[in-house]
Amino acid sequence: MEYLVLSGPVCTPAEPPSGAFILAAGLTGNGYDAGLFDLSLEFFHQTLDHPEIKTAAVENSVQYLLNMKTGYDPMRHRTAAGSLHKQLKQYSNINSGWKLTFMDITSPEHVHDPSALADRLSNGANPFSQLWEERLEPVLNEIKPKHVLISLAYLSQLASTIDLVSFLKQRGIEPIIGGSLPRSLATTGHGLDALHKVLGTIDLSNGASLIPNQNELGFWDRISWPTLVSSLPYLSAHPVVPFTLSTGCYWRRCLFCPDREMPFVKVPESSYTQFLSSIPNDIIERRPIVHLLDSAIPPKRLRQFLPAAREYGVKFYGFARPSEELTRDGLLEDAAEAGLLMLQLGVEGGSDNLLDRFDKGLRAKESAETIRQAAAAGIRTYLYLLFGLPGETSEHRQATLDLIESNSSDVDFMNLSLFNLPKYCELAQRAEEFEIMMGDYPGNEDVIHLYRPFTCGGISPREEARNFIDKSFLTTPSIREAHLRTPRWFRAAHLAMMKLNGRRDP
Ligand code: SF4
Repeated sequence: MEYLVLSGPVCTPAEPPSGAFILAAGLTGNGYDAGLFDLSLEFFHQTLDHPEIKTAAVENSVQYLLNMKTGYDPMRHRTAAGSLHKQLKQYSNINSGWKLTFMDITSPEHVHDPSALADRLSNGANPFSQLWEERLEPVLNEIKPKHVLISLAYLSQLASTIDLVSFLKQRGIEPIIGGSLPRSLATTGHGLDALHKVLGTIDLSNGASLIPNQNELGFWDRISWPTLVSSLPYLSAHPVVPFTLSTGCYWRRCLFCPDREMPFVKVPESSYTQFLSSIPNDIIERRPIVHLLDSAIPPKRLRQFLPAAREYGVKFYGFARPSEELTRDGLLEDAAEAGLLMLQLGVEGGSDNLLDRFDKGLRAKESAETIRQAAAAGIRTYLYLLFGLPGETSEHRQATLDLIESNSSDVDFMNLSLFNLPKYCELAQRAEEFEIMMGDYPGNEDVIHLYRPFTCGGISPREEARNFIDKSFLTTPSIREAHLRTPRWFRAAHLAMMKLNGRRDP
């Protein structure tokens, strides 16, 4: 094999890690023999098989998540995911204080300090060494890849990636390291130098640098299904397949958005059919669900994707901005008929005035109409709400509550976030204008930070928002219902597979 892409723990075991998958798919489409080895998936299977973790309840829960093809019942899903998560708590006893969830693994200290983590991993209990020896080494011996690539996409992969690089170097393998975490640190965060110190050279391209005469834009012209090295199943009743219709964001204006500086690139329509036609038959037979990775699916690209989705019989879900364009000309009805199972809607809030302040380009009225039309077409609605913005008042928060309450019968799931201020963004540069006072980072300079502490007019909007969410927002009965229906683990893939009245079957 020419290129083997490795992705370390922890990423969700419900679907392939998107960045690593797309990298391997881009290399494959450009004519290379390339594969993805999802070490996080191997890690979860290894952990759930551990004698101190495996129980009959764990086995039943895994079987439920693997096999419920007609759709998960929200209550049964909650019980299954809850019982798995309860058993994962045993992980701390097995690995001296390391905590494991389906979204993260954390060391007892130095969570975001690469050098301290490297010291701890080389001198103390190491939760990854067994994974490298039992699962990775045999694959390296068998495949003998010419190049090993490591994709570091999330902070939850930081510890394992540090250890993985050290394991490979000890065996004389010089991996090429990249991924969206170092790219984010380079553009809007802090700590790239700290990462360099521990990992060495880092490639900040999207993988195009590996292909002669290729550029960041042309990388998307040819995307094909890569070899998946692990034969273990993802914890999902239908295979979830990452793909994207665009990169960057077509809106690109929100003042605090890290994607604002990235170029917006449309993936050519020819790539849709090339990619979908390359999905192996055994995956197609299991009725795959395409996870559209777009920061915000452009309505025109959505329309263009529908014939390909119909032709290859794939269902799909993804993130979109609620907008008038999305509700025009029966687009949502057509998309639902072509297989759109769920829209993750970046509603953010109910106050036009606050949304305008940050150039969000969203209107509460358009959000309400998008939610209504999506639900009427049988599309699951998963709303993303953002609280704690600089200058947010109780009136702004109340407007959000009113918007959600008045549309609650059409709201299936919710994600509530508290605002974080990226270290470098337009809003941080114009802090004074927004009466933002930057705070200091706790700890030393060599720690990774994606966000900057701040106050606004002497108060922390995040604290005020937290109070509101607990005491007013989630105590509103119809809103609480959607909140309780939203599982804590295996978002968003499993949400697209939830069985709900009035929504289309997966
Ligand atoms: S719509 Fe979302 S991705 Fe696009 S600029 Fe705004 S915050 Fe960023």
